[in-house]
Amino acid sequence: MIIGGVSAWGLAESYGTPLYVTDEQALRENYRRIHSAFSRHMDTRIMYACKANSNLAILRILEQEGSGIDAVSIGEVQTCMKAGFSPDRILYTGVNVSTEELRQVVKAGVPVNVDSFSELRRLAEISTDVPISFRVTPGVGSGHHPKVVTGAKGSKFGIPRESIIDAYREALDLGFEPQGLHAHIGSGGQSVEPFMDLIGIMIDTVNEIKDQLGLSLRFLDMGGGIGVPYRPHDPVMEVDELAMTITDMIKEETEVETLYVEPGRYIICDSTVLLTRCVDIKTTPEKNFIGVDAGFNTLIRPAFYDSYHHVAIANKFNRACERKFDVVGPICESGDYLARDRVLPEPEEGDLLAVYDAGAYGFVMSSNYNSRPRCREALVNQGQAELIREREDMDDIWRHQTVPGRLQQ
Ligand SMILES: *Cc1c(COP(=O)(O)O)cnc(C)c1O
Repeated sequence: MIIGGVSAWGLAESYGTPLYVTDEQALRENYRRIHSAFSRHMDTRIMYACKANSNLAILRILEQEGSGIDAVSIGEVQTCMKAGFSPDRILYTGVNVSTEELRQVVKAGVPVNVDSFSELRRLAEISTDVPISFRVTPGVGSGHHPKVVTGAKGSKFGIPRESIIDAYREALDLGFEPQGLHAHIGSGGQSVEPFMDLIGIMIDTVNEIKDQLGLSLRFLDMGGGIGVPYRPHDPVMEVDELAMTITDMIKEETEVETLYVEPGRYIICDSTVLLTRCVDIKTTPEKNFIGVDAGFNTLIRPAFYDSYHHVAIANKFNRACERKFDVVGPICESGDYLARDRVLPEPEEGDLLAVYDAGAYGFVMSSNYNSRPRCREALVNQGQAELIREREDMDDIWRHQTVPGRLQQ
């Protein structure tokens, strides 16, 4: 198996496992594909949703490509600024934001996408010079799992459609100059229809804002959520079709100049594989297990969302597959699995497994559960490999713990 011109086996030998490996050219191509799909039709800013993967080297690459950033916390804002993004290229979209965090975002000079009336009023106390937009709950939801649907009615995110005009009215009364309208339906949907429903609702909303308040919004932000094919025969989301349909609707029915798109998964997901070593093999009357050194501490998506990740034995690509296996990790919970009931070649201890499409919501959701230090990340580019994150050690796990003196006797 070769990733970005580098042998997967060689990477595992030199850096150890588990190891996340990102192919820089694949990442750049994903960015360019989605950027050109939209910007050939109208002025578009791609705002990479950095919660999907916020490694500084990944952010540097996207900064070079000209991307903007969707940040959901002050920590993400600071990380992106450290990676070289100027504040005007970031949009902060928080939910249940504390006043202290709002203060820090304003101080950083980053525009605020407001999620509630409470946040609006607390922001007004800090400053009304901040560029703002509002997140509307459109009543349209989509996603690969109920936990990641954000746009449906009853969601904790955004201001309900029924109250959104009042939000803009109040913002104007407070002295703000709102710039845009935002919505995000959810993460990882595979079809174009929910986006069309969303854009229809957003178009009606911007036009109502214009008619009722005389306010012309500069941008419309359709959020992210563009799905990727995790299974071998999953359909591929046609971004060209999505882009053409949506930009046509916006150009025909509104005066909005700029479209924001906030893809996270689409940009980073398939550029990265997780390499993990087979350490143990177990056969029982019910199941066959391939025990590997990555568990849900390293990649939580299968345990958390029942997500499918394609798995292969990287050093046995051409072997016949005969038996079914569960690929399971070292965490002491029965929910700790990476893959279930997969037909794979006969495994041996020491084999190297590749878990595909691990770039989005992979490393960022990893943890120290079971006192396991987090793993390394590597970047490969046209035959060269470099580390972009060092492995943690036990000192990292103990660093912020203290034992009161009276317990130290
Ligand atoms: C998570 C998130 C996104 C990105 O979702 P993807 O499915 O990774 O594209 C975009 N916008 C907001 C506000 C988000 O919270």
